[in-house]
Amino acid sequence: MLDIFSLEGKLAIVTGSARGIGQAYALGLAKAGATLVLVDILEDNLQETASLIKEATGRDSKTYGIDVTDSTKINAMVSELIAEFGKIDILVNNAGINAPKPFLEVTEEDWKKIVGVNLNSQFLMSSAVAKEMVKRNYGKIINMASVGGFMALSETAPYNASKGGVLQLTKTMAADLSQYNLNINAICPGFIDTGLLKSSPEREARLQKVYANTPLNRLGEPSDLVGACVFLASDASKYMTGTQIVVDGGMSAVAM
Ligand code: NAP
Repeated sequence: MLDIFSLEGKLAIVTGSARGIGQAYALGLAKAGATLVLVDILEDNLQETASLIKEATGRDSKTYGIDVTDSTKINAMVSELIAEFGKIDILVNNAGINAPKPFLEVTEEDWKKIVGVNLNSQFLMSSAVAKEMVKRNYGKIINMASVGGFMALSETAPYNASKGGVLQLTKTMAADLSQYNLNINAICPGFIDTGLLKSSPEREARLQKVYANTPLNRLGEPSDLVGACVFLASDASKYMTGTQIVVDGGMSAVAM
């Protein structure tokens, strides 16, 4: 591996890493050399990710079964990590949810829940971690957005709004934190084959639309996103901040 992509000696937190894209990110960052802190509301499933990392790299990971909308638990975790490791180099704000529904059926509760997990959590995690990163003048924060952050995917109003918020949060954090040598960027996937997508009603009908509108003519796999994550976590991207990498099989490039 080129040295500029190496994450040897770095400590990386990945939220939502019990499965799906977060699990692939955690494994990819570990293979690039990082020690991993795995965070997910599904505590038991985190062991699966920790085992995959151990198998691939021989390194142990730390696991936290916490809800990323709970600021008390986040702050306690960050304090514990600083006490143990003295630093946090990389934060990947990946945890996210969706519950597709036509706009007229979206309830206030749906809205609060989706925006809470997808957007508020990224503020809470980033705020707690960035306060430590600025003390060392080093840090990489990667926020999971979506093509839904800049395109209107139908029947997902709270999701699209939350991801649009993530893109603006990313830019504003970059504006405020560049003076401390922090790089803050986002990744915007198209449709990736994970539990998030499987949970949508009328999956087949939705998939046919996805294929028809994706030049590469397939769903993405979590592994398709790992390169972008390692790149943004590494010094290969040190002159990038406040921007996004789109990994969508060409979907957002075409009108139909
Ligand atoms: P996933 O397979 O459902 O994995 C997300 C993980 O986050 C799950 O383990 C989930 O646990 C966890 N999580 C949910 N709420 C949490 C909370 N409050 N606190 C801690 N952990 C929580 O989804 P994915 O497809 O990998 O999505 C990962 C990220 O990519 C999300 O931000 C998503 O919006 C984004 N993304 C995905 C796609 C796609 O097509 N898959 C496209 C664009 C962007 P539970 O299973 O218990 O909820």
